[in-house]
Amino acid sequence: MKRRIFLQALAASGLGVGVIGYADTFARALPWVKSGATVAHPIYGMSDEPEWLLDKATGKYRRNPRYILRHTGDLQCHSECGLRVKIDAGTGRIARIIGNPYHANTRDDFLAYDMPLNETARLPGTVCARGNTGLQTVYDPYRITVPLKRSGPRGSNKWQPIPWEQLIREVVEGGKLFADIDDPMGKDVEVKGLRTVHAAQDQLIDPKAPELGMKSNRLVIQGGRIKSSRRAFQTRFAHAFGTINEYEHTNVCEITHHIATEMVYPHKHVVKPDIRKSKYVMFWGTSPGDANFPMQTIGKYVAEARTKGAKHVVIDPVLHRGGVVGDYAEWVPLKPGTDGALAMGMIRWIIDNGRHNSGYLSRPGHQAAQAAGELSHTDASHLVIVEPDHEEEGTYLSAHLAGLGDDEEAHVVIAAGTRKPALAEQASEGSLDFAGQVNGLRVKTAFRLLKESAHKHSLEEYASICGVHAERIAALASEFTSHGRKAACEFYRGIVKHPNGFYNGQAVHMLNVLIGNLNWAGGITGGGGSFNWKKGRYDLSTDIPKPKGIHINREGARYEDSSEYQAKVARGENPYPAKRPWFPSTFNIYSELLPSIVEGYPYHADILIWHMATPFYSVPGQHNDELLDKVKDPRVIPLIIASDIVIGDTSMYADYLIPDTTFMERWVQIGMHEATMTKGTTVRWPVIEPLTKTTADGRHFSYETFLIDIAEALKLPGFGDNAIPDKDGRLWPLHSREDFYLKATANVAFDGDPVTPADPEDIDTCDLESVRKRFDKSLKPEEWGSTLMVLSRGGRFEPYENVWHGDRVGHPYNHRINLYAAEVAETRNAITGERFPGVARWRTPATIKGTPLDQLDPAAQWPFTILTYKGSLQTHSRLSSNTILREIQPENWLEMNQDDGTRLGLEDGDWAWIETAHGKRKGRVKLRQGVRPGVITFSVGYGHWGYVASHIDIGGRRLEADKIRSAGIHLNPIMRRDPDVWQMSLIDPVGGSAVFYETRARITPADKAEATA
Ligand code: SF4
Repeated sequence: MKRRIFLQALAASGLGVGVIGYADTFARALPWVKSGATVAHPIYGMSDEPEWLLDKATGKYRRNPRYILRHTGDLQCHSECGLRVKIDAGTGRIARIIGNPYHANTRDDFLAYDMPLNETARLPGTVCARGNTGLQTVYDPYRITVPLKRSGPRGSNKWQPIPWEQLIREVVEGGKLFADIDDPMGKDVEVKGLRTVHAAQDQLIDPKAPELGMKSNRLVIQGGRIKSSRRAFQTRFAHAFGTINEYEHTNVCEITHHIATEMVYPHKHVVKPDIRKSKYVMFWGTSPGDANFPMQTIGKYVAEARTKGAKHVVIDPVLHRGGVVGDYAEWVPLKPGTDGALAMGMIRWIIDNGRHNSGYLSRPGHQAAQAAGELSHTDASHLVIVEPDHEEEGTYLSAHLAGLGDDEEAHVVIAAGTRKPALAEQASEGSLDFAGQVNGLRVKTAFRLLKESAHKHSLEEYASICGVHAERIAALASEFTSHGRKAACEFYRGIVKHPNGFYNGQAVHMLNVLIGNLNWAGGITGGGGSFNWKKGRYDLSTDIPKPKGIHINREGARYEDSSEYQAKVARGENPYPAKRPWFPSTFNIYSELLPSIVEGYPYHADILIWHMATPFYSVPGQHNDELLDKVKDPRVIPLIIASDIVIGDTSMYADYLIPDTTFMERWVQIGMHEATMTKGTTVRWPVIEPLTKTTADGRHFSYETFLIDIAEALKLPGFGDNAIPDKDGRLWPLHSREDFYLKATANVAFDGDPVTPADPEDIDTCDLESVRKRFDKSLKPEEWGSTLMVLSRGGRFEPYENVWHGDRVGHPYNHRINLYAAEVAETRNAITGERFPGVARWRTPATIKGTPLDQLDPAAQWPFTILTYKGSLQTHSRLSSNTILREIQPENWLEMNQDDGTRLGLEDGDWAWIETAHGKRKGRVKLRQGVRPGVITFSVGYGHWGYVASHIDIGGRRLEADKIRSAGIHLNPIMRRDPDVWQMSLIDPVGGSAVFYETRARITPADKAEATA
């Protein structure tokens, strides 16, 4: 059936409350199809009129009355660039998307916050191709606008539209929800509804293991891209419900990057180079112009820096778009996963040649650093206990253990002048390279530990490991240390999505630390920070007590503290291995949720909610029949609810689908990325009327509306009447999204000095009076003016002049930097019992049990390594509906080195099989020089099976598949899993990242019949 006829049939079938107009919604959803109409203008064709009109008499611009302009935040990728959205004032439809010129992502010289909107007419910001095509995400013809319930077995993609009230009633009350459909496995399952699971919040999961917490933890919320205030909204619900199990996606993204950063820079998950003022920037596992945050901005900064003579180096097995070569750029194609070896080789060379900044590193405290004119200080001279088998081995030497008083927290150094132990905070200078005894305990400085770690291998050995000549390692180290503080290393997921990812990341951070570049212009910055959306006018912090218990993925907890471990020890058994790993130093271990739920380790789940979550597409090795069969079985997970904008690759396996809003129809308050060095908060808000249908009281269906209605049905705290306290103690209701997010916006507007109220002309340009009228009761009258100002600018941003203060960054980071990760050194691998080291080092990539991957899949059988990348024309899993992007690049390829292809008899465009330990896929080959031999890479975002890439049945009628969405190849499903833990991706046991870059493979040309099949 053709899509349009199908929709008409749906409308004719009268599918109940909330379905009326379903066909109309789809029928409106084709803004780019204008064929058959007479062109409106002989030159401009069907182009829209401009949004600004020039008054020739005054020379001023004014809004074209046919359009309104609104500013919001993008989500076509996580860069969250500010957008200017041109909206047809008559139809309410988006006509065009450009950059918000007040936003630092989109203009290097972003505009003054108080500049009137009409003065910005000729000063637009930029967006990338994905940003431009965002309206195709919004107007995807296959958007779901009403709730759906499966009408066949799980995963059959058979659905029935249902009224909102039925959705809420059924998931709250449970019962035999699928007794009347053709579902042999599920029809007899008595589903526990949310009410029953919530009511079990005073019953222990296991009285013999009380630390697991209460049975209400059996609701698991697996979120995807849900950040900042939206995440807080989800957390608010989870805590009110009584579950600790509420997550976002980060371990398939970059969690090890965050953990490695936090261990070096406490309280920070991201630090970035000040690219524009730098002389030399090394990009490790990323390149300017691909992925990274903010993608378009970093690309522009690098281009600008190069015009001023700066050089950038891309260290990656693949030369991507931003890795141009020439006088001002260099590509170092090292072996995959060996970044730690290259970095440790550089560290060795730097220390051996005295090129580290010893004056900086020897300042042990804040005051000593300030007195010496430094902008930060480190633990390089702090002493660490290395006394074997001492109960404090691996921790910093405390004043108490050093015999310097009672303080068990204060660190100790060897004072450089007296050569005697002294309190780190009081000494002006500490000995850097010390090993000896203090108060009978063997100790070493953190710097000494790093030096010894670097000396574990010769430069030649490091060269052999990483495939970069020793001379070149030395040259890189020499050049990096030749620009004073105006050099920096940047890294991203390419170096951390490996089993040794944490130590790779820690080693690269050490390069920055050794030259002391933090807070200096051209060095490293912790970013500008953000305005407070949580508190101020209203208290939106989650003050509902966090439920107790162990996370179902065992993050943030030590196996050694569990009843399971202690019971094994009490029985005289070796407590290792645990059934699955525990992750004491990290969080958001998304890839472990489904296998843990299915295995029931440490407990089962009754209800799973997916929001923007697609583990089957994104998690390495997880889309396989064995796991799918478990997830499809309602006896294993009795209830799965998904919130999505379309029926996606994973949400197709749910029992119920909640129609969600897109980024143009929803809210968030989110801080600026560190790279811009700007203090600011982007406010994403519904700049158009959402396409989803509404509840009886007029609220659009969305994830938040669902959570609110569940919370009100269960009478959860923090929702309903009297939910949100204001600064005077008055309680305000939370019945709608706006009750929460408008208050968050008011908090941003009034943080510190309030922003001036919006100008009437700006209010008119953005049509903000309609917002005020519609949600008038969500704020106090006196708050609306400043709140509308924030909406009119798409957020709140400080002046550009604050980015630098002379030769320093405008917003310094003030905590101590750590060469030594004491927190990590106190933890163990729950499978092997091995204690994790606290100092950077080279670690051979291995399984969780320690089998080197080169042994697991020997090169003789598996000569290639698969890498993945996120190009500039797709996002991980969401942009298959953006047909304009698909016109630019309709499919992706198996990209490999020209010589490898020739050796295998392959030519550009040939079809080939790629095979791994877990299966094989067929793809078209692209031969390039910019891929290291022995490497295969592919761009994610292609090869979907959901998103209507395969056919769907709704209400007994068939909707044919859209082949554009299934085009290309996706290799995540055949990526390597760890052989020793059921259905676990290879994983970094410290940082927790799922491993994307260590799957060994072989390539065989497809024969003629296969190629055309
Ligand atoms: S980099 Fe492009 S896709 Fe990403 S937020 Fe910015 S404009 Fe949007």
